[in-house]
Amino acid sequence: KAGLARTRETLNTPISELFTGGKIDEALYEELESMLLMADCGVSATTELLEDVRGQVSRSSLKDASELRGALRQAMTHLLTPLAKPLDTTRQQPFVIMLAGVNGAGKTTTIGKLAWKLQAEGKSVLIAAGDTFRAAAREQLQAWGERNNVHVVAQEGGDPAAVIFDAVNSAKAKGIDVVIADTAGRLPTQLNLMEEIKKIQRVIGKALPDAPHEVLLVLDSTTGQNAVMQVKAFDDALKVTGLVLTKLDGTAKGGVIAAIAKTRPIPVRFIGVGEQIDDLQPFDAAEFSEALFS
Ligand code: GDP
Repeated sequence: KAGLARTRETLNTPISELFTGGKIDEALYEELESMLLMADCGVSATTELLEDVRGQVSRSSLKDASELRGALRQAMTHLLTPLAKPLDTTRQQPFVIMLAGVNGAGKTTTIGKLAWKLQAEGKSVLIAAGDTFRAAAREQLQAWGERNNVHVVAQEGGDPAAVIFDAVNSAKAKGIDVVIADTAGRLPTQLNLMEEIKKIQRVIGKALPDAPHEVLLVLDSTTGQNAVMQVKAFDDALKVTGLVLTKLDGTAKGGVIAAIAKTRPIPVRFIGVGEQIDDLQPFDAAEFSEALFS
C-alpha cells in the first residue's frame, strides 16, 4: 500500500476536495476524468471506469467522498481482475523464464527479487546472464548470485542465445526447478536487437521444447503511456506471456496498468514497489485498487 502512495495522492486528493457531499454532477465527472488521465489510465480505460461509476451512481446515490472512492475502487477492480493471473512455475521442470525490456526498466533487480522469492518457496533456481553486452550487468548478477547462493551461468562477451542454451541444458541435467534468463535491454525500434531476442527465444526452444514457458516483459511504470507502447511492440515480436511493472513506488502513473488492461490484457505477474529484495509482489486487482482509492 505504501508503495503506491504517489498514485494514491493523485487520485484521492481531488476526490476529497471536490466531492464534499451532495450530488455528482457533470463538472465532477470531468474532474474525475482528468484525475484518471493524470494517473496515466489512458482515454479508453478512463472512459470505461467513468461509465462503471455512472452505472453505480444511477443505482444508488453516493453520499460522500468515501463512497465515491468505493465506486472507483470497484470499477478499477473489475477492469483489472483479468490481469491478475499469478505466475505458476510448477507446470514444467525446468520452468524457463525469459526476461525482456528496455534498458533501466528494472530487469536485473527483478531477477534478484524473483530468484529470492522462488528460493523462499523451496525451488531451486538458476540464472542465465544473457545480457552479454554490458559487463556490469553480468557482474551484478554474479555478485548477487554469490551472496544468495544461486548459480549464475555467464560468459564474457559470448553469444546471448548460447549462454542461455547452455544454462537450460545445465538446469535439465541438474534437475533445477526454474531458469531465469536475463537479456540485454533493447528498444522495440532497434530492429536488429528485436531479431536477436526472437532468435534467443527460438534457441531456448531447441534446448527444451515449449520453452521459454514465460516471456516476462519488465516495464518501468514511471514511463506511463510509453510502457503501453512497449507492451504492444514486444508482444507483437515475442508473444509476451506476463508483465512486471516496476518502480510503482516512485510514480504517480500507477494507472498505467488500467491502460494496459484496455490495450493488451497480458497478465501482470508482479509489481515492483521498491529497491529492497522483498519489494516484488504478486499482482492482486482488489488489493491494488484498494491501495489507489482508500
Ligand atoms: P535493467 O537495466 O533493466 O536491468 O534495470 P535495473 O534492474 O538495473 O534497474 C534500474 C534502476 O531501477 C536501479 O537503480 C534499480 O534499483 C531501480 N529499480 C528497479 N525496480 C525498482 C522498483 O520497483 N522501485 C524502485 N524505486 N526502484 C527500482
